[in-house]
Amino acid sequence: MLPNFSYIRPASLSEAVEQLSALGARAHAGGTDLVGCLRDRVFDAPLVVSLTRVADLRGISTTSDRSLRIGALTTIAEVATHPLVRQAHVALADAAASVATPQIRNQGTIGGNLCQRPRCWYFRGDFHCLRKGGDTCYAMGGENQQHAIFGASACLAVHPSDTATALVALGARVTIAGRRGARSVPVESFFLLPEEDMTKENVLQPGEILTEIVVPPPPSGFVSIYRKVRTRGAFDFALASLAVGLSFRQGRVEAPRVVLGAAALKPWRAAAAETVLAGARLDAKTIAAASNAAVKGATALEENAYKIPMFRGLIQETLEHLRPTPPQ
Ligand SMILES: Cc1cc2nc3c(=O)[nH]c(=O)nc-3n(C[C@H](O)[C@H](O)[C@H](O)COP(=O)(O)OP(=O)(O)OC[C@H]3O[C@@H](n4cnc5c(N)ncnc54)[C@H](O)[C@@H]3O)c2cc1C
Ligand code: SF4
Repeated sequence: MLPNFSYIRPASLSEAVEQLSALGARAHAGGTDLVGCLRDRVFDAPLVVSLTRVADLRGISTTSDRSLRIGALTTIAEVATHPLVRQAHVALADAAASVATPQIRNQGTIGGNLCQRPRCWYFRGDFHCLRKGGDTCYAMGGENQQHAIFGASACLAVHPSDTATALVALGARVTIAGRRGARSVPVESFFLLPEEDMTKENVLQPGEILTEIVVPPPPSGFVSIYRKVRTRGAFDFALASLAVGLSFRQGRVEAPRVVLGAAALKPWRAAAAETVLAGARLDAKTIAAASNAAVKGATALEENAYKIPMFRGLIQETLEHLRPTPPQ
């Protein structure tokens, strides 16, 4: 049963910011994650501030510098199908299309997708673990099949968002509004590792709202792709996912971004793989070297060693797919 809380629907961003500055207040967008967390007592909220009346937070448009602007309250379904996203940023459209079920994509928002809490079953269950302010990580030595292989310290959870992984590969930024005005942060720096803060997953401060996502225009010859491995094809969170964004110039790879999802508590840049790819021809040797480099330094837990060959294979297959066809 849902606990009691106060609920308000301000009509302006400034009023929403003001209300969200109250101790323990939580933003409500589509509610597909928030309501479950409140019902299951993952966290409490004396006050829930709905963003659904703030019209400025919706919609997809192009800015004067040809960037794509996506309001935080835009539904995941709209991101998955909008022609501006589909044409220029395939990785984002495909990542959004791979989220959950049609019902959740129609109700859930892109802002909520980035701000959703981890899916670690102990965190979602009746366990007062480190992330809830307790003193134990139950996944350490417990059921950790779906947990992190990179960047884990005391907490081993992974970030569940598909769209976050794609947005990092596209070099996107988020705009955050707060009492002191707005600030712009690369999506890559929006998320926090456990060593940076054990109790939250992003840089939002009390009272701050994620208002929009800005994706820069793709350079010439740019391609992007998103791939996801999950237990059930119908709908499921990623066991391993991958977003790649790169350009080809005179047959060579330029400015590659290789980002692993469900590998860490933030979308994980495979920097060593990017170094292998930069300036190289995408041939079999480069692809093998990049996929090996991407998983170098990964640390397996008792139950999740399968993720390392899974990522290696996913990267190899995806880069093969991107390989330019030789002239006949
Ligand atoms: C059965 C199921 C399967 C799922 N499968 C997947 C999947 O495969 N891949 C995937 O990526 N996700 C998956 N999800 C998660 C789903 O995508 C999220 O629940 C959804 O995106 C959250 O969006 P929302 O608008 O409903 O957010 P809400 O539930 O309203 O909010 C989620 C959190 O974000 C905060 N928040 C929301 N908007 C803002 C904002 N603009 N500024 C600041 N804080 C904000 C809220 O306070 C809350 O803590 C699944 C969920 C379910 C229930
Ligand atoms: S992995 Fe993180 S969220 Fe899960 S039990 Fe450990 S501390 Fe809690």
